Amino acid sequence: MHPSSLFRDEGFFKEIYKMKLLIKEVFDMRKQLEDIRNISEKELQEVETIGQLENLRVRFLGKKGELTAVLRGMGALSAEERPLIGQLGNEVRVFIEDRIRETDVVLEANDRNKKLENEKIDITIPGKRSNIGKRHPISLIIEDIQDIFIGMGYEIAEGPEIEYDYYNFEALNIPKDHPARDVQDTFYINENIVLRTQTSPVQIRTMKNKKPPIKIICPGRVYRSDAVDATHSPVFHQIEGLVVDKGVTMGDLIGTLEVFAKSMFGENTAIRLRPHHFPFTEPSAEVDVSCWVCGGKGCRVCKNEGWIEILGAGMVHPKVLEECGIDSEIYSGFAFGPGGERTAMGRFGIDDMRLLYENDIRFLEQF
Ligand SMILES: [Zn+2]
Repeated sequence: MHPSSLFRDEGFFKEIYKMKLLIKEVFDMRKQLEDIRNISEKELQEVETIGQLENLRVRFLGKKGELTAVLRGMGALSAEERPLIGQLGNEVRVFIEDRIRETDVVLEANDRNKKLENEKIDITIPGKRSNIGKRHPISLIIEDIQDIFIGMGYEIAEGPEIEYDYYNFEALNIPKDHPARDVQDTFYINENIVLRTQTSPVQIRTMKNKKPPIKIICPGRVYRSDAVDATHSPVFHQIEGLVVDKGVTMGDLIGTLEVFAKSMFGENTAIRLRPHHFPFTEPSAEVDVSCWVCGGKGCRVCKNEGWIEILGAGMVHPKVLEECGIDSEIYSGFAFGPGGERTAMGRFGIDDMRLLYENDIRFLEQF
């Protein structure tokens, strides 16, 4: 075809026009692909988490992603242009994939370092203090009393809190009609079984199982059917003592109680015995100590009397020894029984027994 005829050929212009469109199309697609590459590169630099990275991957490379959308437009291109754009598209894809992989490696490493940083143990940080609590005032008193008597050669003896009527009453010379057996005072499980009202049954069990000499103290809970008030509780503690041997006298009892009183309440403490009656001891006495606050002059704690009652005591009744198979012609003994609550209240100046059972930490922490 002669060149001059080309310009008059309508078909030729159409071709040129089509080419121009295509060139524009190709140019646009190039631009779009380059934009995608630049934007993805910039945004990938700002990614901080694996999650954000995955979002970007979907946004650019996913099935509905930006790169995929551009490449879908390739269908409109000529057979010559298609491979060029295809190649460029592929380069952009590889470029983004590489950046994602690199970023992924960096993020993983950061994560790992952060974890290691968090798990690092700083051995210079002070340790955590654990709250180990404190001993209860009654436990403190029972331990003090035990220590005093262990120091004098006594052994600790224990027995059941659910006890036979026989050990709790009968063997202790408390007959069926004695006021101490009144149902008002005793929790009966049945006719023959009670919640022990004293720790004395432990003494009976010991005397029945062991030959003298016997030197024991019996700490433990006892039960009486009393209403709760400032000085009464249906559950309380006794720490009874028993000595049985040849030639044991009232003088030994008094000497023992003096040592106990001085150890417990101070070197200047005096004791006083007042005659009393217990079925299981003869003679029996209630024992007072001189007030550890005023020294005997009279004060609020001793109710101006100068003396405070701390326990009952006496010489073991011969009937009780015989009941346990101990010859009362050869052996004699004494028994005494301070109460855990009463001693704790006196020693610590507590005026209401209920405070000991309410388990208010603010109260218990003071001892
Ligand atoms: Zn006093």
